[in-house]
Formats: sequence, C-alpha cells, structure tokens
Amino acid sequence: MITRPVKRLPVENGISGWEAISQRSFPVRCLEGRVNADWLIIGAGFAGLSAARRLLQLHPDDKIVVLEASEVGKGTSGRNSGYMIDVPHNLSSSEYSSGGADSTRREMAQNRYAIEFARRAAEAYGMSRETFDPAGKINAAATARGMKLNVSFGQSLKAAGEKHTFLDAAEMREITGSNYYLGGLYTPGAVLIQPADYVRQFAAGLSHDIDVFERSPVTSLRRDNGTWMALTTLGSVCAPKVILGVNGHVEDFGHFGGRLMHIFAYASMTAPFPADDFGHKASGRDRWALLPADAMGATVRKITSGNQSRIVIRTRYTYDTTLTLSQSRLSKMAQAHRRSMDARFPNLEGIPFEHSWAGRLCLSLNHVPAFGEIDEGLFSACCENGLGTVKSTLAGMMAADLATGFTSRELKEYMNHRGPTRLPPEPFAWLGINSVIRLQELRAGREG
Ligand SMILES: Cc1cc2nc3c(=O)[nH]c(=O)nc-3n(C[C@H](O)[C@H](O)[C@H](O)COP(=O)(O)OP(=O)(O)OC[C@H]3O[C@@H](n4cnc5c(N)ncnc54)[C@H](O)[C@@H]3O)c2cc1C
Repeated sequence: MITRPVKRLPVENGISGWEAISQRSFPVRCLEGRVNADWLIIGAGFAGLSAARRLLQLHPDDKIVVLEASEVGKGTSGRNSGYMIDVPHNLSSSEYSSGGADSTRREMAQNRYAIEFARRAAEAYGMSRETFDPAGKINAAATARGMKLNVSFGQSLKAAGEKHTFLDAAEMREITGSNYYLGGLYTPGAVLIQPADYVRQFAAGLSHDIDVFERSPVTSLRRDNGTWMALTTLGSVCAPKVILGVNGHVEDFGHFGGRLMHIFAYASMTAPFPADDFGHKASGRDRWALLPADAMGATVRKITSGNQSRIVIRTRYTYDTTLTLSQSRLSKMAQAHRRSMDARFPNLEGIPFEHSWAGRLCLSLNHVPAFGEIDEGLFSACCENGLGTVKSTLAGMMAADLATGFTSRELKEYMNHRGPTRLPPEPFAWLGINSVIRLQELRAGREG
C-alpha cells in the first residue's frame, strides 16, 4: 500500500474579473462519504473537464467522478485571457514559432484537434457567442522590433501554408480606436472564450452524466489492492484508474519534482463603460483581441455585452515557489496594467480597474507536457506550457485515450516526446528564471 499526502492545495490570488461577471447555472456539490467509481478525475479545469467528456464519449456507461479543490471557474481555467490559439504559441520564443515548417504544421494540427473538440462541446452545451467566439486574433506591434517579429512570424506561417493578413497602423486604429499600434498580424483560427463561463457551462453540461464535486480538495492518494483511494476533507473516492488534471500541482502529488516552472501571470479588468459613441471613440469596435507581437508584451482584449464594454489586460510574469502572493505584489502589477492601459487608451483614463488577479502557469524547460501513465492506473494530463485552453484540453483528451487503451494517430503523435527536463536547483532556478523573464520584459519595451 502506498499513501501519498498531497503537499499543497491551490490558492486563488485576487478575484478574477471573468468569474465576477460570470453566472453559475448549477449548484455546488461537495463530496461527503465514500463513493466508488470506474474513473476518478482530479481537477475541473480544461484538462480535467476535457478528460471527463472524452471518457464519457468512449465509455458512456462508466461511473465518472470529478473532484475539484475549489469551485469550477475560480481556478486558472477561469482566470486566463481566453485565447484558444491554433497557430504556434511558444512563450519562450519571442515570435512564438520555434520549429521548422513541419513541426509548425504538426503543432497546428494538434491545436486544431483540441479546438474542434472544444467547439463541439460548446455546441453540445449551448454556449453563446459571448462565451465561445471563433473570431481570430491579432498579433499587435507597437515597436519596430514588434513589426519585425510579426514579419518573421508571418514567414513561419507562410512556410507552413497558413492564412494570415498584415494590418497597417490605420487599420489597427480603426479596430482598436488607439494610435498606439504600428501594425498587426491577423490569423483567423483562434477562438475567444469567456473562460469562467466556458468551464462552468462545460461542467454544467457534464453534470447530467457524471458527478462533479467542488470544494472537495484531494488531500491524499493511496493505492491498495489495485484500487486508488482519494481522500477529501469530508469523503473519499475509490477507483481503479485516476487522471490528474491539476497542472503544476502534479508536483504536490509527488510527481515531476524539480522539472516544472511555476509562472504567475497577472491580469486586470476595467469597470464597464458605455459601448456607445464614447466607447467607440475611446476604444474602437465592440470586440477585438490583441496578443503582443513580442511574447513578453501585453495581451489586451475588449469585450462588449449589451451596451457595456470592458477592457481586459494581461502583462508581467514572475516565477515563484510559493502559492500565495502578497497584496503589494498584486497592487504593483495592477499599476503596471494601468500604465499599459493609459498609454494605449488615454480617453479611458477615468475608467478604473474593477478586478486585478493572478494565476499560475506551468512550463517545462523543453516545452513538453508532464504526460503519461506515471504509476499503475494513474495518468497525468499536466503542464500546459502557457496555452492551457488548448494544450490542457488536448492533454485531457489524450489522457482519456491512453487510460482506456484507445489507440489513435493523434495519441501516437502526442506521445512522441521526451519528458520534462530537470531544472537547476533552488535558489538558482528562481534567480535564473526571474532574471530571464525580467530581461525579456525590458526588451519588449512598449509592447508591454
Ligand atoms: C492571467 C492569465 C492569462 C492567461 N491567458 C491564457 C490564454 O489567453 N490562453 C491560454 O491558452 N492560456 C492562458 N493562460 C493559461 C491557462 O489559464 C492555463 O494554461 C490553464 O488554466 C491550464 O488548465 P489546466 O486544466 O491544465 O489547469 P488549471 O486551470 O490550473 O486546473 C487545475 C484544477 O485542479 C484543481 N486542483 C489542484 N489541486 C487539487 C487537489 N489537490 N484536489 C482537487 N483539485 C485540485 C485546481 O483547483 C484547478 O481548478 C493564462 C493564465 C493566466 C493566469
């Protein structure tokens, strides 16, 4: 018998604006007492929920249980910028694309496989255009360096036979209402989600067929006579097979130690402002989505619902070994967001931020997931490398395929990589990774 206590449980730093403006349509159920199941999934983010849907497709009569430490939509899956990106999105390469044409094509095929799965789920669970919008995205450039990065990214896309359109400064001004940008590169395949609504509606749709228990953190995992038992505060689940969709917390379950980088990303959402003449003059069209041409710059999105608009901005990264951030760190990041906002939208200076928050990404040095059967009957769908809306969706699907023995071309290709490589020991990792992040952010300059 092996019992593994779970070292640390997730922490939410700040309330995400997406969650604050999202509505729950189903009650919170906590696990109480003992439950037996065919499958246990731990974590109800993109990875866990996608694994559950895929399992349901493959084994519709099996009993599937999902355990979530917090509530669906409060974790990182409900607090991101909501870009489901089909083209390469490697954060450690300043123009996103790091491989040759073949690997670019392979990566796009995988991303699109995951986005198609998400699209079908969105359709099945009745998501609106405000929750799941296949509108594409623009890589916006505010500097000569950003323009060069866009050109270089455009060349990678061209070599892979991919559609893309360059926009000039006037077109960027017409879309965003801002004079800040020199140009942009539009790719049509990205889907923009309201992330908290997406995961909540996904979970609500699943909950007709499976049990999703929230506020039910797994505090230990034990294997006894071929069965796994997960203990929560008030109950337990026994199942022969378990899928971990806990992203960086997989380390707290005792796996991939010293191989995963935990990077905080920070975002703020403005208070609503009128989507009328004022909103259009200050910030252009009702909806648009900009990624920075330099991966270390600012992601900026405008959303409009009814006659109210908001801007959501994400800038700055830090590597931290702790889970809880100080209020002063969050305030400092919100100030950085304010500077970026005011530089782009001077007419919105009077519109305050209503919410500022942070969330944890999980990256590996060699940009691979922490994936596979890591113990008998225990599967990992973790380490999303910064694009979890897509990569964690894919990891969840692939973990379900692997765990059920469903062999597909996609799974074979997905498994064709080495595991995450080892990081330098602390405090060298902390020093090294934060120095690289900061230097790259400084180099990004006005893109941030
Ligand atoms: C500000 C910000 C902006 C971002 N923008 C984007 C973007 O535009 N596009 C994109 O693709 N990605 C973006 N990301 C990253 C994206 O949010 C993550 O990649 C994604 O959430 C990972 O999904 P996941 O399901 O793997 O993990 P998570 O979303 O972290 O879900 C894991 C779940 O496991 C649960 N859990 C952990 N431990 C336990 C336990 N012991 N018991 C039970 N449950 C447990 C957690 O509570 C959590 O709900 C952004 C992130 C941030 C913070």
